[in-house]
Amino acid sequence: MSDKIYVGVDLGGTAIKVGICGESGKLLQTYEGPTGAEGGADAVIERIAQYARKVVEESPFEWEQVAGVGAGLAGFLDIPEGIVKLSPNLGWRNVPVKKVLEEKLGKVVTIDNDANVAALGEAWSGAGAGIPNVICYTLGTGVGGGIIIGGKIYQGSFGMAGELGHMSIVPDLEAIQCGCGQFGCLETVSSATGIVRAARDAVERGDKTSLSTIHTLAAKDVFDAAKAGDEVALRIVNRAAYYLGRSMATLAVILNPQRFIIGGGVSKAGDILFNPIREIFKKYTQEQVQEGVDIVPATLGNDAGVVGAAGLNLSR
Ligand SMILES: [Zn+2]
Repeated sequence: MSDKIYVGVDLGGTAIKVGICGESGKLLQTYEGPTGAEGGADAVIERIAQYARKVVEESPFEWEQVAGVGAGLAGFLDIPEGIVKLSPNLGWRNVPVKKVLEEKLGKVVTIDNDANVAALGEAWSGAGAGIPNVICYTLGTGVGGGIIIGGKIYQGSFGMAGELGHMSIVPDLEAIQCGCGQFGCLETVSSATGIVRAARDAVERGDKTSLSTIHTLAAKDVFDAAKAGDEVALRIVNRAAYYLGRSMATLAVILNPQRFIIGGGVSKAGDILFNPIREIFKKYTQEQVQEGVDIVPATLGNDAGVVGAAGLNLSR
């Protein structure tokens, strides 16, 4: 076999996942091991190098076929230089990941933030395969995002583009403070955290809802209650969907993507979330702009990160 292969690294706080993709973005082989973050940055980077070699060793491919190695990381990054400026969850400050990994592996290494990388994964071989311009939302504890234009991650001038969760969208009267310090970010209403907070507030206010019987509320409880017809839960879900739909209407007139992809734990709620998002998008977007645009669930699940990381060298 002489085809080129791409190695992707999804560096998490507890586990490092590495994978091999072919030119089409199909995930061909994976390997996973502990991060061991407590051992410090040098040890973690050494482990990444070991796992990258291991995944290729265990595959039918040769190391010579590796056209590049990509890594998705959380934190503040200098993407062109490949430096992790600050990663609170790993306890890293100014770690030159690209340089060190390139020395260890003898291959081109590219890093990017985990949300952009997941978006690239979906765009390459997931729900956006074959479509050049897509915008991805990841709905989890927060709201992450990535903008893919012409098959490439749009970084912005200083690598800050695609922070969809921090779009300022909730009007002042209803706005609460976001983890980023600003008020009224999309994340405050449409993340799992935002949905659970709204449910708790409703229960504390004494609203009549089945949610009041649940001790430790999760976003899934709110969706389940909404599906069962609980009006309070339905109101919370519709509010989360409303702001997502409004944000897409705004992005559609600015960037004119062909597809919006929604992934992350919250997206598993299905039609109860997607239908109102589509309705709101349709209602607030000019007919000419919404023509040919769809809103679909992500398809790669937890593999999006490793696939997108593998694609980082392909897309440059
Ligand atoms: Zn924010």
